[in-house]
Amino acid sequence: MRIDTQCVHAGTLRDHESLGVNTPLVCSTSFLYPNDQNLVRYPRYFNIPTQEAPAKKIAALEGGEDGMVFSSGMAAISTTLLSFLKPKDHAVFQASLYGGTQYLIANQLRRLGIEITLVDSADVEEFSCAVRSDTKLIYFETPTNPLLKVMDLEGLAQVGRNQGVLTIIDNTFATPINQRPLSHGIDVVVHSGTKYLNGHSDLCCGAVVTSSALMKTIRTTAVDLGPTLDPHACFMLERGLKTLALRVFRQNANAATIAQCLQSHPKIRAVHYPGLPQHPRHEVARKQMDGFGGMLSFEIDCKPHRVQHFLQALEVVTAAVSLGGVETLLTLPAHTSHQHLSPSERQAQGITDALIRLSVGIEDHEDLIHDLSRALENV
Ligand SMILES: *Cc1c(COP(=O)(O)O)cnc(C)c1O
Repeated sequence: MRIDTQCVHAGTLRDHESLGVNTPLVCSTSFLYPNDQNLVRYPRYFNIPTQEAPAKKIAALEGGEDGMVFSSGMAAISTTLLSFLKPKDHAVFQASLYGGTQYLIANQLRRLGIEITLVDSADVEEFSCAVRSDTKLIYFETPTNPLLKVMDLEGLAQVGRNQGVLTIIDNTFATPINQRPLSHGIDVVVHSGTKYLNGHSDLCCGAVVTSSALMKTIRTTAVDLGPTLDPHACFMLERGLKTLALRVFRQNANAATIAQCLQSHPKIRAVHYPGLPQHPRHEVARKQMDGFGGMLSFEIDCKPHRVQHFLQALEVVTAAVSLGGVETLLTLPAHTSHQHLSPSERQAQGITDALIRLSVGIEDHEDLIHDLSRALENV
């Protein structure tokens, strides 16, 4: 099956009692035992039918042997990291990760005595140099937030293989529609399903996809920690996933059109989008991505206080945190995800006060471009 067909059909559980075409919403916390399968089903064991259906669908989309769904993206990420790290182990992390993951590293992993090296570079070579004899894993994202930097998946997978360390990617921004890291040799994929996978800004969830062997370890940690996803949420997630390809195709097209338009706009200083030929890693993105995604950022050529005039004039695009939904959302990273940094630290990372991040939705692209253009006239 092609990926858009998998979105609709993979993992669906046909119920022979009701004959419904959708996976039944099974709310039981208690299941008959003994049974033919000799299986103890229980929600915190991540093995009730309503949980297994979206997990199987996401695993199919990512091309992995096994998948699990979690109560949040951070639940998926923390469970995965705690499965492979113990005190005195060393781990290599990309420096510019999602804020929540940076807090997990700073507040929890360091407290547990796990040694951390942060690599502030998109170069494979720098990651390779950071690996030591006691390194257990390399963890990264691509494209990154909010500057859409692109990491070389095959290069990093090779570093992992050559040096015997696990490679883990947060694939939230790209989605499996645009990028399937396991096919490039990465070991584990994690997701905030709160974003594109569910796609309607109405559900918090996470996911992990990997080999059956690695999932065995993650599943044991998950059962111990208990970050289970409620069946109602699983049902919603499976429903959202059916339109993932449809939404992402549209979001890719809308984002590409907006990026091109902004690129030639006199009031825009810079546009960051992997689909633009001017992007420094456009060729790498072309090699490893089927689409360039719905996320982009741009810098308005104006004094910081003028940015408010731009925001106030918007009528379709909405200023709000989070991303990946059907509606186009805008954030100012300097005021949201990167507000904890000092102005000079932000400057060093290229996150200016006039940097805008867009999560492009599925609206008509002309309405979006009209809204952005009109608001820019207000600057
Ligand atoms: C939102 C997000 C997370 C965390 O997910 P939650 O569902 O909020 O726990 C992790 N990584 C990325 C890239 C995100 O955007």
